[in-house]
This record gives sequence, structure tokens and C-alpha cells, in this order.
Amino acid sequence: MQLSGKQVTVIGMAKSGLAAAEFLAAQGAKVLVSDAKAKETLQKEIDFLLSKNIAVETGSNSDKAVLDTDLIVVSPGVPLDIVPLKKAREAGKKIIGEIELAARFLKGKIVGITGSNGKTTTTSLTGKVLKDSGFYTQVGGNIGTPLISLVETSCDNGLTVVELSSFQLEATEKLHLKVAAILNITPNHLDRYASFEDYREAKRRIFLNQQEDDFAVLNFEDRLVSLMADSTPAEKFFFSAKQELPVGVFLQKDEIIYRNKQGQEKVLLNPSKDVQLRGAHNLENVMVALSIGIALNASTEAMRKGISLFQGIEHRLEPVAKINGVEFINDSKATSVDAAIKALEAFPGNLIVILGGKDKGSDYSPLRPLIAQRVKHLILIGAASDKIEASLNGICPIHRASTMGNAVEIGLTIATSGDTVLLAPACSSYDMFNNFEERGQVFKSEVFHQKEKY
Ligand code: ADP
Repeated sequence: MQLSGKQVTVIGMAKSGLAAAEFLAAQGAKVLVSDAKAKETLQKEIDFLLSKNIAVETGSNSDKAVLDTDLIVVSPGVPLDIVPLKKAREAGKKIIGEIELAARFLKGKIVGITGSNGKTTTTSLTGKVLKDSGFYTQVGGNIGTPLISLVETSCDNGLTVVELSSFQLEATEKLHLKVAAILNITPNHLDRYASFEDYREAKRRIFLNQQEDDFAVLNFEDRLVSLMADSTPAEKFFFSAKQELPVGVFLQKDEIIYRNKQGQEKVLLNPSKDVQLRGAHNLENVMVALSIGIALNASTEAMRKGISLFQGIEHRLEPVAKINGVEFINDSKATSVDAAIKALEAFPGNLIVILGGKDKGSDYSPLRPLIAQRVKHLILIGAASDKIEASLNGICPIHRASTMGNAVEIGLTIATSGDTVLLAPACSSYDMFNNFEERGQVFKSEVFHQKEKY
């Protein structure tokens, strides 16, 4: 892709947009970054861009920005169906995402991981496993570091592991993954997609451009995922946490086993001994990392070691503190009903669960059976409280909290020794916080604050 001297518009001034703009400018393109948000909310970003001599536009995406340009690069936070992009498409303008731009320049093989839940954990675990196996490995994408920032440090015989959201996959075209993995597909982001089918089709794009000598890692137990096997000519690696498979990676008793096409088996690791992460869902994440490692010929012993040292990541079933025998767990990242279900499943019982936040158009009733089985009290916070209460009433006592501090206080008051207070909101955080990280931080600091009192 020839960029020197080209006029390029970047839509969206978030992290990926800024990184893309910086990259494009360094390639000699004339860059304009346009964001529909008001100038006052973007001062830091504007200062950064102007310091790099990159032009900016705020308040709207003007016709000039989308029509007087050779290429439009879209940040993943920006929906592709906004009016300015429709106009650009009608005028025949080329529109790509930041991931696609990066894919055109990255050296080496790319491993992509998507799914409704577990992407970040699995991407980070896979990166560790491959690094520990001796590969030159970089990790980026939706996990935090924009993929475009990894171009410069990529090399021909290295690997780049990329976490891919459905939004990022929507704006790909030539992205080619040596290994493409789909963890699961459950209703998510229905506030941005017209239908569940549209969301699923965005996920399917992970297989675009794969060839016979590539690999696809698929969850055998997720019907929507396993049905996608036909969408790629790549060699399939199925995994299952529920049953033995004729070929693939599966859990049997307390062993994760790989069985190859010739029927030869190898025990990869023993979950109770080798995995520190809590919950059956994390065994699926481990199986994906192992399948990717096997596809790339990583050493099984190095993978086992790497996995056994992995303690998980912040805000995902993260142990915070114990106060008077009551354990506090931060799963602020459980921003969907499905993720909250997984969090509840990771505990046998005696739970007090903090739920709520900004509703994403979810149905909360699938939580009912688990709440009946394992939860002593629910504490509701945030804008979705009324909807959640209407959907979950009559199972266990429900308390209302005005703030996160109040929720932690209530939790500590009603809990008895041996209970677990679990923050697994099943909602996004944007009603009260900037993001799920801030929500988790506030939860943790409120817990520490209570601990100091004892
Ligand atoms: P993502 O990046 O896809 O949001 P994370 O690794 O950040 O995924 O985990 C988000 C939440 O999803 C976790 O808090 C956990 O409760 C749940 N989760 C993690 N892995 C899985 C999985 N394999 N299946 C279902 N839920 C999962």
C-alpha cells in the first residue's frame, strides 16, 4: 500500500485512530483526523496530533474529510454505517479499519482471536505461551496496544497475536491469519448491531483470506462456532471442555489431551495442578492457547509451564481481599449476561453478587437458575437496576446501592464468614464510570477502604 503523498482521513480520535494517524504521517501521507465529538472533550488528543503536525477536525465529520481524500481509516469505536461513511462509500472512497491498515504492513505471521467472551484472557495467555516457547511474539489489538503500533517491531519470522473485536473484524479486507480462533458467540453488543446475525457475520470474517495451510481453532461445544468450520479451508482444531473428541484438544477427567489425526494422544497438562485461573470457562481459554501452540509447533512442556505461571488479568475474577472471612472478587469485565453466568459458575455457592450498570439491551432471566442455586443476596447498582430487579425478583433478597462504595458496604454487612462478594455486573459501566477498568478500580479501593477499618 503506497501512502506517501496520499490524502488520508482517520475517523475517530481514540487510541487506535491516533496510532493510525501517527503511522500514516510517518509514511508520508497527508493526514486529517476527524472526530464528531466536541473539541472540549478531545483537548489531549488534539494537542498530541498538532504536535505531530497532523490536521484535526472536531464537532462533525465534514464532507471535505470524507470526500476529498484518497483513503479513510476508521477507528473501531466508530460504527461503519454513520452518514458520513455512507456518503464516502457512495462516492467510491476506500474505507478500512486500523487493523486492516496494520495487516498490510505487519511482517511475520498473525494469530487472531475473537469471541464474545474470553478474548483478552486468551490473547494474553496465548502470547505468553508462544513467548515462553521461544517465538518472537508481540501481542496487540483490542487488548490495548493498537496493532498499527506493532508494525515497526514486527519481523519476518516473528508472530503477532491479535485480539479482534467484531467491530474490528467488520473493517478488514485483506487481513490474513495463520491461525484464527473463535472462542464462543453469544448475544452481545446488540445495541450496535441490527441483529444477532449481523454480529455473527462480523465474527465469521476472522476466516477471510485463510488458505489450506492455515489453522482454525473452534469451540466444538458452541454450535454457532462449530458451524463456522465450513467458512474456512484451513486445518481445523476443535476443542471441547465437555467431551472427548476424535481429533482435537479436549478435557477428560483432570487432563487436557491432544489427539491428532492419526489418533495419537498427548496429555498437555492437568488443570487442577497446572492452571491457576478459576472457572470452567478459563479452561476453554487455556485450550485455545494450547491449540494455537500446537498448530505452530510450540513445545508442550514450555506451554504447560507458561500456563501454570499465568495468574490471570486484572478485572477478570480477580481476588481483591478477604475481610472477616469474606472474600471479595472483582469481575468488572463481566459486562454481559453470559460473562456474569460464567463468573457465577466459577463458585460453588455462598455468593453475594453486585449486578448492574448500563443496560445493553440484555435479557437477564438466564441468570435466574444460577442465582437460585448459588446466590444468597443480590446488590443492584446503576441505571439498569429497575430492569434487572423486574427480571430477577422473587429468587433471593435484592438490595439497592447508590454507589459502588455503598454496594461494598452492604455486601460486607450482609455477608458471613465463608461468603464471597462478587462484582459481576452483567452490564457495561458507562452510566457511572468511564469504563470497566475504572469500575473495577473503584470497587477494589472501596474494598481496601473497608479492610482498613478491621
Ligand atoms: P473479552 O476480552 O472477550 O471481553 P475477557 O478475557 O476480558 O474477555 O473476559 C471477560 C469476561 O468474560 C470475564 O470476566 C469472564 O467472566 C468471562 N469469560 C472469560 N472467558 C470466557 C469464556 N471462554 N467463555 C465465557 N465467558 C468467559
